[in-house]
Amino acid sequence: MEKKSLWETWTPKMKQSMTGFCEEYKQFMSQCKTERECVDEMIAMAQAAGYKNLFDCVKTGEKLTAGSKVYANNRNKMLVLVQVGKKDLSEGLNILGAHIDSPRLDLKPNPLYEDSGFAMLKTHYYGGIKKFQWVTMPLALHGVVAKKDGTVVKVAIGEEAGDPVFGISDILPHLAKDQRSKNINEAFTGEDLNITFGSTPAEAGSSEGEDKDLFKKNVLNILNEKYGITEEDFQSAEIEVVPAGAARDLGIDRSMVYAYGHDDRICAYTSVRAQLDLAGEVPEKTYVTLLVDKEEIGSVGATGMQSKFFENCMAEILGLTGGYDELKMRRMLSASKMLSSDVSAGFDPNYANVHEKNNAPYFHYGPVLHKYTGSGGKSGSNDATAEYIAELRKNFDENDVRYQMAELGKVDQGGGGTIAFILAQYAMDVIDLGIPLHNMHAPWEVAAKTDIYEAYRAYRVFLQNL
Ligand code: MN
Ligand code: MN
Repeated sequence: MEKKSLWETWTPKMKQSMTGFCEEYKQFMSQCKTERECVDEMIAMAQAAGYKNLFDCVKTGEKLTAGSKVYANNRNKMLVLVQVGKKDLSEGLNILGAHIDSPRLDLKPNPLYEDSGFAMLKTHYYGGIKKFQWVTMPLALHGVVAKKDGTVVKVAIGEEAGDPVFGISDILPHLAKDQRSKNINEAFTGEDLNITFGSTPAEAGSSEGEDKDLFKKNVLNILNEKYGITEEDFQSAEIEVVPAGAARDLGIDRSMVYAYGHDDRICAYTSVRAQLDLAGEVPEKTYVTLLVDKEEIGSVGATGMQSKFFENCMAEILGLTGGYDELKMRRMLSASKMLSSDVSAGFDPNYANVHEKNNAPYFHYGPVLHKYTGSGGKSGSNDATAEYIAELRKNFDENDVRYQMAELGKVDQGGGGTIAFILAQYAMDVIDLGIPLHNMHAPWEVAAKTDIYEAYRAYRVFLQNL
């Protein structure tokens, strides 16, 4: 089976379109480093494409018809985009799904302390990280502080030119004898990942107790001045510690993108763009894009894929398109088709031994279809049917979309899961499709520009043709 890369098959015009698209992608990735920032930006994109708030329509009872476009925001961390098609909803939806949470460090609920002349912040990591990768690099703080008066203060420090950044220290090699003798999990523990936050003392007051915790006091004064928050407000905050800095081109030929959070904003952004760029048409089948939170920790919680939010939204949409009907709802969901889009492990010559060459995805060969994922004998996987895969192959081939069929690494080398199995519970056809990465879950991940653009093309073809 001879495979051709996108470099061999694309026209010069395609390469140009790819470059323009990836410039927009890099801008998105530089701005949107949390699920909340993704939802904010994607709502703005959807509104610009003519999407209305579903819950406004529910309030006013505005009917939805073929061509109607709505978005539904779940707690600013999960987003559903729906473009109603001509066909009856009971004939099923074409669904794209991706997650917008990424591995990171979160501040603990009581993060602030001082030690030996430093103000420090305790963190608790989120998702599967290799802890040693997070030390000695510039870090930014992104998130919100919800105050008791009901206001929510947005925080983003470390991204603008001139902003300070933060960091986690590591031992100098000269004194690392003990550290070197430990295995990697013991050498870097979760409780060691403490942020250096400041090192200037506040002025000591004259009354009793006013000469204590001066380093802590000083950073609290700065936070209060800048954001109007107090130490207690950290208790109702969500502050994520992420790599500071913009997404950049990787390689002298600028063929790749180096960014924080490709997993899985790379599939989220390309899916959203695919659906929004078709906003001008009245589709045959209804288009849905799901952007979910909490995938990295099991798709749990009110904003994860396992919540009923998507189902609730579709119930409301049935209500506004001719009436809610339980049987119709079930028929609609089981007749639907889905691409569960998440990143894969691109073949990496530095670590060739974890891949099986014939079944590894490669950079520049387009998005990857995974019949199954999982680990230890495919446990936790969705297993797409041969018939559904054949249908996708036909549609991609007919529309000149390149794709590759692969697995994530060697058998029993590890594995992973996605949101695919959750949607499959509705008895709909679901398959994993994603973009190969290097350094998945590292602070800076790598993807090929060709694959980013080809995934976007694959999503368009899927929405329009399945
Ligand atoms: Mn993922
Ligand atoms: Mn992941």
